[in-house]
Amino acid sequence: MTDVNIVSHLVKGALSEAGEGFIDVFNPASGLISSRVPVAGTGQVEAAIKAASEALPGWKKTPPAKRINILYRFVSLLEENEKEIIRLISSEHGKTYEDARGELRRGIENVIYACGAPELLKGEFSRDAGPGIDSWNDAEPLGVVVGITPFNFPAMVPLWMYPLAIACGNTFILKPSERTPSASLFIAKLFSDAGLPDGVLNVIHGNKITVDLLLNSPAVKAVSFVGSTPAAEAVYQQAAVKGIRAQALGGAKNHAVVMPDCHLENTVSALMGAAYGSCGERCMAISVAVCVGDEIADRLIDRLASEISTLTIGPWDDSRSEMGPLISQDHRRRVSGLIASGIEQGASLVSDGREHPLFSESGFFIGGSLFDRVTPDMRIYQEEIFGPVLCVVRVSSLDEALALINAHEYANGTCIFTRDGASARAFSTRVEVGMVGINVPLPVPVAYHSFGGWRRSLFGDLSAYGPDGVKFYTRRKTITQRWINDTAAEKAQFSFPSQND
Ligand code: NAD
Repeated sequence: MTDVNIVSHLVKGALSEAGEGFIDVFNPASGLISSRVPVAGTGQVEAAIKAASEALPGWKKTPPAKRINILYRFVSLLEENEKEIIRLISSEHGKTYEDARGELRRGIENVIYACGAPELLKGEFSRDAGPGIDSWNDAEPLGVVVGITPFNFPAMVPLWMYPLAIACGNTFILKPSERTPSASLFIAKLFSDAGLPDGVLNVIHGNKITVDLLLNSPAVKAVSFVGSTPAAEAVYQQAAVKGIRAQALGGAKNHAVVMPDCHLENTVSALMGAAYGSCGERCMAISVAVCVGDEIADRLIDRLASEISTLTIGPWDDSRSEMGPLISQDHRRRVSGLIASGIEQGASLVSDGREHPLFSESGFFIGGSLFDRVTPDMRIYQEEIFGPVLCVVRVSSLDEALALINAHEYANGTCIFTRDGASARAFSTRVEVGMVGINVPLPVPVAYHSFGGWRRSLFGDLSAYGPDGVKFYTRRKTITQRWINDTAAEKAQFSFPSQND
């Protein structure tokens, strides 16, 4: 155990391994401990807050055009170090090489968007808002911002947050997932290498204890959170009590509606990628296929079962792998338990991932599972499984499909497969979900839009990144200005001035 790598904190440009105990980090493909991560306690949290607070005045007054010179260099370093970042993501998460590469590319797109800060931060100006009066608004940084991120996108989700927050003039403390900390730390170090002043971005590791310490600090002015719904809700409530800004993105149960007129082969390919890619551990994964009519349901299930039987499962560095392992032994136990509950509650298990030969090996592998005849009262329908399990629900109309989707606790993403424009239009108009795909299984918005679900998939008013991100990381100041001629005497005005006075 002594030669196990320790993943450091990064505070004020310096690496440290201090903390109150350690958490083991696993290689999910082997099931072995690959490193250990310290849990930041009071001392480390205070040091990070001090570093971010001290760096704030200088960074806030650095012109946006100068801030983004560093971001441009950061983009180059991310590209130059692509292979190492992919290795770090995949060896702790288990996702395949190409999947990790896709995650990193999406993250880089967010840094490129943040490079537009001088344009994005431009205010609005009104000359002659009143007689001799001009009015304009500034978008000012909030101060020290905290980001809490989940295990499943250790590169992309932090890159949704701090490049934009920092481009807007804030300083930042990132608390990455304790299960996949290495890529997040490595990327933050690249930002320092690009010339970011010490203290503008700090990384401290830990768990809920660390998050609570961060949120209790009066210096912290906002929190961006991405993770499971119970944690998102708790963070949002803590922020509300404290009176600070919060955006807290939570879990999901994304439904795909399969219409009888869909292009079956394309729908099967799309569902295979969306349900089983990344072992189902994506907040935009499709976990429910709502088939409109028994005929399309039967044909879809036949084709999916055949594809699942040839799904290539293996470690990330085997180029044949289409799907890797789950994140942990505990999580595999939970997914297996949910599969058992589906059978007990009367769903038909068409493909059982627990029968895959790798299920009995030491890594956290499981095969793809497919359930038919799932109903809304079942746990496998209600809960986020976050594993490679697709549930087919049979309905008789698009109206029925919409009613199901709109009644679910989660409302992150959804999609429809159809060749009929009227069905697609009715679906996108009437569905009550934040991100909607039409023949697009994973409708993850591009970096210049914003990402966010509805209902219990997002707590807060603003979505992540893009235009909403700029609004979240800045606060509006409106200035009304009038220059008075020294010689003109003016009487006191006791009535409230309006535009027509
Ligand atoms: P998680 O909630 O266990 O952990 C997320 C982060 O929160 C980690 O950094 C963790 O240390 C911290 N944390 C855990 N419990 C906490 C608590 N009670 N209070 C404060 N902080 C806490 O989530 P995970 O297992 O790492 O990630 C998977 C979950 O994240 C899934 O539910 C998935 O849907 C969700 N997710 C959502 C999105 C989205 O954009 N909506 C994106 C990715 C993942």
